[in-house]
Amino acid sequence: MNENNLKNNQKVLYKLFYNSISNNRLSNCYLLYGDLNSPLKSTALYLAKSLSCQSGIFACDNCPSCKRFDLGKSPDSFFIDGSTETIKKNSIKELEEHFKYTSFEDNHIPTYVIHLVDNITEEAANSLLKFLEEPKQDIVAFLTSHNIDSVLKTILSRSTKVRVNPVDQKTYFSEICNLNYLSSNKDNKLSIFLSYVLSKITSSIEEINSILDNDLYVYSIEVVEDFFTLLVDNLKEAEYLLLSLACKIKDNKCYNYLFLCLSILLSDILSDNINEDCGIADTLTNIPLSKKQLVNIKSILEENYGLRRYNLNPIGTISRILKIIEVNNE
Ligand SMILES: [Zn+2]
Repeated sequence: MNENNLKNNQKVLYKLFYNSISNNRLSNCYLLYGDLNSPLKSTALYLAKSLSCQSGIFACDNCPSCKRFDLGKSPDSFFIDGSTETIKKNSIKELEEHFKYTSFEDNHIPTYVIHLVDNITEEAANSLLKFLEEPKQDIVAFLTSHNIDSVLKTILSRSTKVRVNPVDQKTYFSEICNLNYLSSNKDNKLSIFLSYVLSKITSSIEEINSILDNDLYVYSIEVVEDFFTLLVDNLKEAEYLLLSLACKIKDNKCYNYLFLCLSILLSDILSDNINEDCGIADTLTNIPLSKKQLVNIKSILEENYGLRRYNLNPIGTISRILKIIEVNNE
């Protein structure tokens, strides 16, 4: 993220910050929200960095403060990442301690970023709320969420909500199509299907590379293509494919990608917005499930994957999906 990128792709947000910073009217807490492929983390970090930059309104990326920030060594800033693990009370405690004992650099506004704040325990959310309610100094918080409905109402009401636009789908999609499989047994360009799904589930090429680096993650996404194809011709085989996953996949993160992928394609079907770029458009138009069945499957996926939660019961989720599909066999 840089100033030009922000100016061109996030016009509303750019203007809001430009005005707030130049008029010294920053809010105490911003909640940046958007789709899975909206660059929430990089935007939040860039705005936080901008508040510690010595040069202009937006981070210059060259001054000592910006460089310290990029190295994660800025004394004025604290980062909690809810995308890698659930945010617990301990992390909020560390955040409080950080701001209690650190002396801030002159003319810098202390900031903290909590990425995917909806992935927080109730106890931690209450501590965070207390911290937000009693700002001891002018600290600015940047919270992010892909699922604004699951953010605690009391936190929402204390935040200035700003939407972050998704990345430009066409450019991003072709960038991903040019990547290669990293696994040992595949040495060609990514399948169209995989590229499409990846372009929808994250705005981060870094995350995409970490998925490509793991055969099982890739398998968990690509198996959905086989599942839909089987569903059209042979319901029983499709069911068997999902059931057999339990023997192959043990890692909950794999199921998380599987469910995300399923959910994205179901959304496309349900919104009559099947993208030709997905590689299996014809298959998706011929899925022999009723709208009601699709809606029911989607709501099971939503309540279980919580977008990024890993403490789910994947086999239970699969059984519930199969129950919905089985009706067609009777
Ligand atoms: Zn700077």
